[in-house]
Amino acid sequence: MLVTRRHFLATTAAAATCFASRSLFAQQEPQQPEMVLKARAGAASAKITTQKLRGNISVVQGSGGNIAVLSGPQGKLLVDSGISSSQPHIQEALAAISADPIQHLINTHWHYDHTDGNLWMHSAGATIIAHEKTRQRLASPQKIELFHATFPSEPAGALPTLIFTGQHTLQMNGNTLYLEHYDPAHTDTDISVHFADADVLHTGDTWFNGVYPFIDYSTGGHIDGMIRATKRTLATGTTSTIVIPGHGPVGDKQQVSESLEMLSAIRDKVADLRKQGKSIDETIAAKPTVAFDEKWGKGFTTPEMFTRFVYQGV
Ligand SMILES: [Zn+2]
Ligand SMILES: [Zn+2]
Repeated sequence: MLVTRRHFLATTAAAATCFASRSLFAQQEPQQPEMVLKARAGAASAKITTQKLRGNISVVQGSGGNIAVLSGPQGKLLVDSGISSSQPHIQEALAAISADPIQHLINTHWHYDHTDGNLWMHSAGATIIAHEKTRQRLASPQKIELFHATFPSEPAGALPTLIFTGQHTLQMNGNTLYLEHYDPAHTDTDISVHFADADVLHTGDTWFNGVYPFIDYSTGGHIDGMIRATKRTLATGTTSTIVIPGHGPVGDKQQVSESLEMLSAIRDKVADLRKQGKSIDETIAAKPTVAFDEKWGKGFTTPEMFTRFVYQGV
């Protein structure tokens, strides 16, 4: 009985504390969509792995989009910030790479799985760099129709302060970095980051390695833009460029070529069906992706979803 009562009191106290902090939280922060809350819950215990690539560049994976890390005497430069709840695990992974503090963070685009960690990384000392459209989208509420979700604007500390349009060049830790805006592809905010000396390229979500891509038409994405972006990725660097996708394992130009073939073949098939007057449901029923599903259809974007993304743009 005593144990039960103690347990009851402890549980009640914990619940009261939890309730108090939650209502405080609710007053301070605008409501995030369910998918962000779920992502944060999952990422709190997600396994974070580090892979050394070339030169002083590594990739940290397991929390949202892939995070590239350039380390050296000028401090760490990161590409994308993952999900905020992974902070302790990401900090551990970063500390294992080197003791250099975080000085710079580049966002490849505005999506939360690449920017949710912005606030803590900025607090840890990072200047945030991005295309001006990324800043615009993070600074105001954004709706993604497909998810029926509205993402609230980010607090000032999470916003990029070094913004550019077109291109931007940085010198950091012995590497020249070329940042380039893609034409609208996955969104209208996408950039590539090429670490030219190490020849490592981060494509953001213009490349998903091994799965059908997500294309965010609500914020400027388009299948033909994805195809153009993939071609531009192939034209950047050399034949031995290490390519970091937004999601999936780190790859090479050969794998980017395979993505291009897949995107182009499905785009043409769906365009033909649409030209014949087929509705979206008839087009899905015709299974225009079937030859590719075994290899590409097992990710977040199902064959049906991908068919919808393509149909919408042709
Ligand atoms: Zn992503
Ligand atoms: Zn994205």
